[in-house]
Amino acid sequence: LGGSIARALARMKGATVVDEKVLAECLNEISRALLQADVRFETVHDVKANIKSIVNLDALAAGTDKRRIIQKAVVGELCRMLDPGKPAFTPSKGKPSVVMFVGLQGSGKTTTCTKYADYYRRKGFSPALVCADTFRAGAFDQLKQNASKAKIPFYGSYNESDPVKIAVEGVDRFRKEKCDLIIVDTSGRHKQEAALFEEMRQVSEATKPDLVIFVMDGSIGQAAFDQAQAFKQSASVGAVIVTKMDGHAKGGGALSAVAATRSPVIFIGTGEHIPDFEVFDVKPFVSRLLGMGDLSGLMDKIQNVMPADELVPNLTAAFTLRLLYQMFQNFQNMGPLGQLFSMIPGLSAQFIEKGKEKEGQAKIKRYMTIMDSMTEKELDNTNPKLMNESRINRIARGSGRLVKEVVDMLEEHKRIAKMWSKLPIHNLIRNKRDSLK
Ligand code: GDP
Ligand code: MG
Repeated sequence: LGGSIARALARMKGATVVDEKVLAECLNEISRALLQADVRFETVHDVKANIKSIVNLDALAAGTDKRRIIQKAVVGELCRMLDPGKPAFTPSKGKPSVVMFVGLQGSGKTTTCTKYADYYRRKGFSPALVCADTFRAGAFDQLKQNASKAKIPFYGSYNESDPVKIAVEGVDRFRKEKCDLIIVDTSGRHKQEAALFEEMRQVSEATKPDLVIFVMDGSIGQAAFDQAQAFKQSASVGAVIVTKMDGHAKGGGALSAVAATRSPVIFIGTGEHIPDFEVFDVKPFVSRLLGMGDLSGLMDKIQNVMPADELVPNLTAAFTLRLLYQMFQNFQNMGPLGQLFSMIPGLSAQFIEKGKEKEGQAKIKRYMTIMDSMTEKELDNTNPKLMNESRINRIARGSGRLVKEVVDMLEEHKRIAKMWSKLPIHNLIRNKRDSLK
């Protein structure tokens, strides 16, 4: 997908004159790419029409970078489409709120309920979980297990088969216990069916939620619009959470869900575990959708500018601490790894942020000092469990740094490693390596 948009834009750059024909071709490529990213046909049509009206070729002065202007228009248009114009309800501390989760079976409701509860608990709320899924065998056990792991109070029943009754009992109980965020997990079905929507209508009527969140699997594609709309009709959906964005899903269905519910996306799920949860941010989401931004430039640069034999032997699929060390080292004298580092958006931002270069340099130096006290095994480690307390204490002592600074660095490395694993450069590395053999 990213490739095709990048190609379309590159073709425009190559064209000496950007006329109607070139623009139309470019828009067609972009449309194709958006359709592949699961954006609904009607939405793609709108994007195309809007961009056409924004990009007024005649008005563009000669010599301006028309490719950039079109790229900006596409990004701007998609951002606009992800913004329904009104923010979602957010819970307030100390004031009891009820939030109901809806979505098809397997979309990630139960997992996401716990993530959501945990997110607000960290902000000082007292959340609680109610399992109103009496349809799926084992639903209560699953919620119980998740909730216990996150140390969040929960309510449910093995015997009661009426979801409305359980939901009401659970909400009442936690209201009495002065919980300020009561989360109701509901059942789903594999298909959209009348019984499910009737159940959602009843649970919603009985618990009067302040917010209904529609949970969708990031890869559901064209079905997103109808699904979201059906849920919206039975319970008044006010926000969307897109799950499984850690996989290959581009998440284009989110645009449809926003359009169908006229509600914003508030979080995305990026893994099976509780911390794999991020506040939704429209710009990176759109970049991912388009697979372009600086990344397409990055690919070109790696392929054309950098001597493969210098760069590739250092690159590993896993972003080890050693690779981070080498990037830092290289960054200071602008070697190929350092260039790569500085080109990857998000990766380098906090180290070379404009106006904060000094702090960035100090941080790099501090991190390198800490890494100097690590063993070979620690530098090449890919097992998240290796870095235990005694190792961390030893590293802190050895580098003359605070334990907290070591922990912070390890956290940051984890974050960067996660970002690294999502970059579309891994095939490239593999190919280069094969060609060097
Ligand atoms: P529910 O039927 O809607 O309650 O869905 P579940 O919460 O039971 O999730 C279904 C499956 O999706 C489980 O195996 C979850 O671990 C998995 N899952 C949920 N959210 C995510 C996510 O963001 N990323 C990944 N990789 N898996 C997820
Ligand atoms: Mg569930």
